[in-house]
Amino acid sequence: MKHTSKILSVFLILMPAVCFSGEWKSGISWKKPEVLKGKAAVTTPAPEDAVILFDGKDLSAWNGGEKWLVKDGYAEVRKPSISTKQEFGSCKLHLEWAAPEKVKSSGQGRGNSGVFLMGRYEVQILDSYNNDTYYDGQCGAIYKQHPPLKNVCNPPGEWNSYDIEFSAPVFEGEKLVKPAFITVYQNGVLIQDNWKLQGSTAWHKPPEYEPHGPKGPIILQDHGNPVRFRNIWIQEIKNNSEN
Ligand code: MG
Repeated sequence: MKHTSKILSVFLILMPAVCFSGEWKSGISWKKPEVLKGKAAVTTPAPEDAVILFDGKDLSAWNGGEKWLVKDGYAEVRKPSISTKQEFGSCKLHLEWAAPEKVKSSGQGRGNSGVFLMGRYEVQILDSYNNDTYYDGQCGAIYKQHPPLKNVCNPPGEWNSYDIEFSAPVFEGEKLVKPAFITVYQNGVLIQDNWKLQGSTAWHKPPEYEPHGPKGPIILQDHGNPVRFRNIWIQEIKNNSEN
């Protein structure tokens, strides 16, 4: 009896954690994004004023980069997620990526990675080629906020490009005075059109702005799938009045 009550009390202590650690979903019924096929990656070379984040040789611009595989001009996801040593605010970011050629699993378990602006706003990377999942979590989604306008995923193993234009949020103290906006092209096709971000993108809770500084790292996500990356560069966007 004593033993039983001990088990019961442990259960009661753990129960709230179990109940409140679940996934959050928006519940919005989005329309399925139209599927466009045969759009090749756009392999734009870095402009003169860009910061090169990966040129195919090494990931020395990244914290944790030495943990990932670098081979034949690409980098392949390993544990853990990696983040740029330099921090950025508003920017234009170019990267190319490929989902694993060998298809394993489905939904969110297939070719999952992601690129985070300022360490907290995720543009989803996922193998969404003949692989359905919730639309605001598929490839090119602003994760759990907004689906891509089109699904232009190339088959597993083939390269895709992202060109991301990001306008950083502005805070005055604790107060948000300007939200973030994001535009994304995948393989040259507009998939996010100046979307007003609702806050950070989390798996377990609704979007919410948390005050932060004017710059943050770019993060490439380790989600346990060997997604490949190449040709990553970034341009900082400054107003003419800024130095
Ligand atoms: Mg992801």
